[in-house]
Amino acid sequence: MAAPQPGPAGPLSPGPPSRPDDTARELSRAQREHAELIDSVDGIVWEADPSFRFTCVSKQAERLLGYPVERWYQEPDFWVTHVHPDDRVWAANYCREAAEQCLPHEFEYRMLAADGRIVWLRDIVTVVAEDGRPHRLRGIMVDITGQRRAQEHLEHTVSLLEATLDSTADGLLVVNLSGNILACNRRFQQIWGLEDMQPVGRDAPVLRHVSEKVKDPEGFVARVRALYATPEEESFDILELRDGRVLELYSMPQRQRGLITGRVWSFRDVSARVHAERERERLLREAHEAIQVRDDFLSIASHELKTPLTPLRLHLQMLKHALESHQPVTPGRVDKALGQVRRLSALVNDLLDASCVGAGRMELQRTPMSLPELAREVFSDFRAASGNHALTYEGPDEDVLVSGDRGRLAQVLTNLLENALKYSPLGGPVRVTLTHSGGDAVVSVVDSGIGIPKEEQAHLFARFFRARNAPVSGFGGLGLGLYICRDIIERHGGHIWVESELGRGSAFHVSLPILSTRPLHEAHV
Ligand code: ADP
Repeated sequence: MAAPQPGPAGPLSPGPPSRPDDTARELSRAQREHAELIDSVDGIVWEADPSFRFTCVSKQAERLLGYPVERWYQEPDFWVTHVHPDDRVWAANYCREAAEQCLPHEFEYRMLAADGRIVWLRDIVTVVAEDGRPHRLRGIMVDITGQRRAQEHLEHTVSLLEATLDSTADGLLVVNLSGNILACNRRFQQIWGLEDMQPVGRDAPVLRHVSEKVKDPEGFVARVRALYATPEEESFDILELRDGRVLELYSMPQRQRGLITGRVWSFRDVSARVHAERERERLLREAHEAIQVRDDFLSIASHELKTPLTPLRLHLQMLKHALESHQPVTPGRVDKALGQVRRLSALVNDLLDASCVGAGRMELQRTPMSLPELAREVFSDFRAASGNHALTYEGPDEDVLVSGDRGRLAQVLTNLLENALKYSPLGGPVRVTLTHSGGDAVVSVVDSGIGIPKEEQAHLFARFFRARNAPVSGFGGLGLGLYICRDIIERHGGHIWVESELGRGSAFHVSLPILSTRPLHEAHV
């Protein structure tokens, strides 16, 4: 131990021998051993007065900081002047205030070593009081530089890890073996809307919150529980959320020194990719369907266009033959040929109209017109050629005016009546009625034909749609008539709909807004 300094001797200071020789020897041996003990302590054992002037400093001071021990004694402000400038003021104040209150205290600060090194010390100080006043300070300064460096390194590593976790695009969650949350990153909280919750340590509320958001909560919770029961297992799942998002969910065991201590989960939002894939698949499916529809249409259309051509050629050949052989040409044969020409031009018109509807280019020439008059007119045309069908028409007692395109509305009624006859191949009643109520006029065409399957009725007004029972009726068609009718009627501000029962008949209804009504002298045809 270093030589004590002049001044009031402290309990650590050796006192003058006051005994006979062997007692003195014994005493000095005890003092030497005492000093050796203090010097061997791995820390600077010290004693100072309340103004920080040292009265005793162990040799460890020289080994640790490189200043001769004498300087600690001789320089009154040795401690304060060798404390690191950043710690000097607060450390001195802290120690002084604690000493004044005679309180033991402990603090950590930096000192500057003789070779310029910075040494971190933990100073553990007790205060010896006399008459309630601090009389002497005693302490031990322990070198904690290594510890501090390790701590700084650890803090740096942790902050690096936290920054890395928070900057990743994936939500990350670490749980222990019982499923309690140990850590999670900000992205995890964002994905699950947990920004306002402190999820760490709270497994149950988080799992409940999370499972409420997935489409199959029971399946999800069962999967999580199963994974907790098999800690060594890795997992990969696709999670569908109620709000439409799709997450990829990976998990793997967390290991520490070879032992499984928990599980790390990662959640990746792959909604954009999955939705794009689904959209692509949908478009591809639609494209295939469209190609199929187009191919079907081409084969139906060519068949339909070809059908009238054969009889037409036949009629023309017979006419030519009659003319060449100077035989009389009967008007009936010419009519038949004209009938096939009409059928051809009706098909071509349907094709042209359908392309207008598809392009939104169907134009109407609307004028105020009498709907009963039009209905009667169309009805009369059909009554002449109704074959084995019993056609009836029933109209209102007054005239009903609508703002309509006469030609187009006639086209609709014609189409409905044609269909009624076409799809009741065994004949039977076909009823046309015109009623009005609540500002709308309703024309209905009711037949007792083959009817339409329930599940297909909703598609009837779509382009190219033909009910599956239509071909069995033996009549052709392009599946365009009702598609065009709907467009015409809707452009008039009206509606068209169907009621039908398979095998029992159909009723097609068209409603149109009325302009006005006026007395009609001839209500029935
Ligand atoms: P098509 O030229 O095929 O008759 P439409 O568009 O006029 O085309 O009709 C579409 C489909 O609706 C028909 O193929 C048929 O399946 C069904 N349909 C239309 N009217 C009737 C009806 N009165 N009775 C039974 N089915 C009908």
